[in-house]
Amino acid sequence: MKLKRRDFLKLSASSGLLLAASPESALARGEKKALPPEAVGILYDSTLCVGCQACMVGCKTANRMPIESQDPQKRWDDPLDLSASTLNIIKRYANGTAAVKDREQDGYAFIKRQCMHCIDPSCVSACPVSALRKDAQSGVVSYDKDACIGCRYCQIACPFDIPKFQWASTTPEIVKCQLCQHLLKDGKIAACCAACPTGASLFGPVEDLRAEAKRRLKLEPGSYADFPLKQIGGRAEPQTTSRQVGHYLEHIYGENEVGGTQVLLMAGVPFTKLGLPDLPDEAFVRLADGIQYAIYKGMAYPLVVLGALIYMIRKGENNNHGGDHKEQGDGK
Ligand code: SF4
Ligand code: SF4
Ligand code: SF4
Repeated sequence: MKLKRRDFLKLSASSGLLLAASPESALARGEKKALPPEAVGILYDSTLCVGCQACMVGCKTANRMPIESQDPQKRWDDPLDLSASTLNIIKRYANGTAAVKDREQDGYAFIKRQCMHCIDPSCVSACPVSALRKDAQSGVVSYDKDACIGCRYCQIACPFDIPKFQWASTTPEIVKCQLCQHLLKDGKIAACCAACPTGASLFGPVEDLRAEAKRRLKLEPGSYADFPLKQIGGRAEPQTTSRQVGHYLEHIYGENEVGGTQVLLMAGVPFTKLGLPDLPDEAFVRLADGIQYAIYKGMAYPLVVLGALIYMIRKGENNNHGGDHKEQGDGK
């Protein structure tokens, strides 16, 4: 992964560089933040997803979000991307003849996009007024509209481009998935997982979701196996469905990216083709802390950090022969 201008802005924002925050870090360089003790999340399995979008309907209903229609008469909800009205979206990847599911060449696949509920979230670090917070128990990254001053540092800092801003509102807020925390408080699960008929979106404790993802990687492609529906690790007896095992990539996206995320993704098509960014294992805020720690010299540190980051960007671009143009996925 090479540092680019876009990454630089995100590193700067997440490190608090733009806010002249202290270089002191609670964690040593390279150290990962631990998973909160009762961390919950979602495992999305692209090979089980049929693109029905029931999760999108469930999300809109549970969060009282308006429909976003390309149809002039606004008869249905068909958003093109995450937005101030859409917290969760299923996108489709297609290549060539798009004849075979979960295949990169001449195939198609689905991908779910939403807030990843990072274990060490850049949006939380970048926010100067703690309007974004990570719950110490569940790890849910939530938003407090009353604290927000509308600076939009969280938007710049997020490596997944998740937070959206209500530009059309006279009292704009930041909008993003909050893991249906209002439902969790009532002992319910995330609405997208409750609505999913195939088990492609699965709610549960992150440790259980990680174990389930690793179990799937060991299954024989083409064989039949049981997959849990809606949730695992709850008190209720788990429901299961028998499905043919897909061809998984040996990569659980979010297990390590930017220090780990509580939303995990599995797929048969490379994640960069599905529109996910290629990210380092270390959280952006830790990367920036490391640079600051190494070269901090009293009051001069922001300028030195700025110079070092620009040097890294230019070096990365030179090594890349100006080839900043990573092959783009065909995700629609
Ligand atoms: S995905 Fe972005 S908005 Fe969500 S927790 Fe991570 S940094 Fe914050
Ligand atoms: S957890 Fe809730 S808000 Fe987040 S994508 Fe699922 S339904 Fe939407
Ligand atoms: S409800 Fe489940 S199967 Fe349907 S689009 Fe959403 S994740 Fe895929």
